[in-house]
This record gives sequence, structure tokens and C-alpha cells, in this order.
Amino acid sequence: MTTPTDAQRMEKIVSLCKRRGFIFQSSEIYGGLNGLWDYGPLGVELKRNLKNYWWRVMVHERDDVVGMDGSILMNRAVWKASGHEDTFSDPMVDCRVCKARLRADQMIEKKGVRQCPNCGSKDLTESRPFNLMFKTYVGATEDESSITYLRPETAQSIFVQFKNVLEVSRKKLPFGIAQIGKAFRNEINPRNFTFRSREFEQMELEYFCRAEEGMRLLEYWKEQRLKFYENIGIPRDTLHVKTVSDEERAFYSTGTYDIEYDFPFGRQELEGVAYRTDYDLSQHQKASGKSLEYFDEETKQRFIPHVVEPSAGVDRTVLALICEAYSEDEAPDEKGKMETRLVLRFHPRIAPIKCAVFPLLKNKEQLVAKAKEIVDLLRPHMNVFYDESGAIGRRYRRQDEIGTPFGATVDFETLGEKDASLRDTVTLRDRDSMKQERVAIQDLAAILRARIA
Ligand code: ATP
Repeated sequence: MTTPTDAQRMEKIVSLCKRRGFIFQSSEIYGGLNGLWDYGPLGVELKRNLKNYWWRVMVHERDDVVGMDGSILMNRAVWKASGHEDTFSDPMVDCRVCKARLRADQMIEKKGVRQCPNCGSKDLTESRPFNLMFKTYVGATEDESSITYLRPETAQSIFVQFKNVLEVSRKKLPFGIAQIGKAFRNEINPRNFTFRSREFEQMELEYFCRAEEGMRLLEYWKEQRLKFYENIGIPRDTLHVKTVSDEERAFYSTGTYDIEYDFPFGRQELEGVAYRTDYDLSQHQKASGKSLEYFDEETKQRFIPHVVEPSAGVDRTVLALICEAYSEDEAPDEKGKMETRLVLRFHPRIAPIKCAVFPLLKNKEQLVAKAKEIVDLLRPHMNVFYDESGAIGRRYRRQDEIGTPFGATVDFETLGEKDASLRDTVTLRDRDSMKQERVAIQDLAAILRARIA
């Protein structure tokens, strides 16, 4: 078996995603729309499992974090105060020859002269800022007074609701507010499949603290977030922490890390962990005229809290999960001949389907009835899939290809026809080792739950 190059590997991943229903091009029957994607039946399960696990770890398992779910459209004043209206832009260059509009940092430079990466022309415009926010109008009139934007990040709704959430949750510093939701950026060059999309989801935590705790908490959250990725099956040695330099960092931040992953198309950012000081709350307090201060009952001091923000991309993490899980190995077909087996080695925690249930033969009523009983037994605990069509080996392969970690097969032993002691047991197959073990149906849910937890 030859090892595919990174580009071939990426091509195979994209094609698998479409073929098995993870990710489709948005509006595909109309030719699609650049930078926009739809998640199919398996993709949506994977994405949900990721978001649910994030929520579990970041909110439910902690006493110091509460959640919220803000609206996508907000008063335009939010985006003026946050600085997005004036500065949320990428420098962009037009090529006068091929008419391509490209990010300035994507120009190639030969002997100090910039060239178009598309056609090689040197006839380029000066770079100009291009605001990445999608503009829209609220209400019936389309004029200056009705303009707002689709939010380019979820964070701002947390900042502007800081006081309300503080009051109702009665939290003391340090504490955090978490949110998962859509964000929109009119990226100049969407690329690398879903990696740089124009509509995507973010999982963000704003962790409020006293100024003196900021740098320590930046380290703490970086470590927590690295552990998170390991717990969903992205090994530590594929992750890299980049310390964002003074020049690249937002001016208000005194420390930022990018957590990067080795995608087949290169090392790229999955998440940013930034210490944003008291910049955001100060800006909104100034612009709204409403106090966003915290009152410390012990010291009787009033001050604007500082904040540390771990901000992760749902879609980028889903893509990393698929890239990491994708593998090819060799396994025997029905006749014992070795063939290439395509496997998505998802961690059971995030696999779209946890267990597939198969009757050995579909024309044996008792086998089918038993298999359906097992499906009903497992369904309250996990997402299961029933499959009776085709040779059992083929059915295993189909599940391997979509990353289902376990397969339970009902055979004649289950019916106790040969050996009464095996009545009401099934074979449980492990996707990665392909090993099979015999387990009692009554223990199946507990065994699987322990392996998936
Ligand atoms: P990049 O430098 O790659 O454009 P960024 O530094 O602008 O990313 P942030 O503003 O820090 O990104 O957003 C936080 C997270 O949101 C990113 O780490 C990423 O996971 C996700 N994200 C940002 N832009 C996109 C996009 N266009 N498509 C998919 N995910 C995105």
C-alpha cells in the first residue's frame, strides 16, 4: 500500500465527506456558493457531539461558568464600540489582469516585486482594507439608520450581556460565560474545504477575572484547551501552541496563543486563547454609558473585570477530527483476500453512530426480531444504526468508513440453538482492532456506555 500525499489525502477526505453524507456544498444543485457548506446526516451528528462535549466540559462540569445564547443580529452600536466597524478588515489587492481579488498576504513576491499568485501579473492595485462583516438592513427601510451586520464573532453578545448575566447568576470573580453559535465573515478567499468558511460556528468562553490573574489564567486555559482536544482524539503531538507575537497580536491583548493543528494542507489555527484585558467591557461601558463594573463585596472596590478568551471554531475542529480519524489499512474480504479498508478512527465520544446492530441474515425472522429488540434497548442511551442488507463483512466495512466504533451482531448462537449458555449473547466487534467478543445482551448498554463516556 502506498502512502498518499497530503493533497491526495485531502482529496480523499473531501470525497468521503460527500459520499457518506458528512459535508455537502451549500446550494449544490445551483452550482454552490463559495465558502458555504451544509452538514449531512452524519456530519450533523459529529458536530453535535463535539458541541455537546464542549458544553459539558466548559459549562456543566464547572461551578464557575454559565452559558448564554445571543442573537446573531445586534444593534449596530455594538460593532462601532467593539471596533469591528472600523477595523475588522483584511488588506486586499486586485489583479488588473485576471481580476482576482486576493488577500495581500497571499501575494507572491519575487525579488521584492509582488505578483499575482493566479496569473503571475505584476499589475496589481495598492492594498486596501476590506471589511469582513456582512452588512444587512433591519426593518422595511434600507437606509443608513437601519444598517447592521451579521455577527463576525459570538463574543460581543457576551460582553454586552455581562451585567445581566452577572446579576442573575450571582457569580463571583473569576467566572465565565460560554456560548456556541454562528458567526459570519465575508472572507476574501475561502479555501481548504470548510477550514475558512464564510459562515461558521464558534465555541467561545469569556472568563472574567481580576487584572492580576490574567496572565496566570491565560496559561491555565491554554492547558485546559489542549486537554480538551486530546480527549476528543486529537493527539498532543499533532497540536502546536504558537505564541502570537507583539506585532500580530491585537493591541489590547497582553498575551495570545494560537492552538494549531497539522492539517493535510499545513499547520493551521484551530483556536485562539487570548488575554483581552478590560478592553471590551471598557469600550461598551464608554459607548453605552451603562456601568459594566463589578463590585467586590469584600474589598468594597468597583472595577471593570479583565477577560481571558478561549475561542474555538466548531467547523475547523470537525475538519481536524475527520482528518485525524481518516486512515487506510488492510483487512481480509469475505474470501479472505486482503483489501484496503477505509476507516474513520473517531474517538467513541464523538463518533456520529456509536453502535451498529446487525442480524446475521435478514431472511431469518428470529434474528431480525432480536436485532430490533437490541436497537430499542440501546436507543435511549446512544445513537444506533440498524443494518440488515448485504454480506456481514460489507456491513462492517460500511460502518468502518463512517467511524462507528462498535458493531453488535445477532447470530444463531444468540438464539441458543447450538449452545444454550450463549442464548441472548451477541458478538461485539471493535472497529479498530476488528476483534470480536461475546457479550450478554443485558450488559451491552452498560459496556458501551462505559467505552463511550
Ligand atoms: P484566521 O487567522 O484563521 O482568519 P482568526 O484569528 O481571525 O482566524 P479568530 O477571530 O480568533 O480567528 O476566531 C476564533 C476561531 O474561530 C478561530 O480559531 C477559528 O477556529 C474560527 N474561525 C475564524 N474564522 C473562521 C472561518 N472563516 N471559517 C471557519 N472558522 C473560523
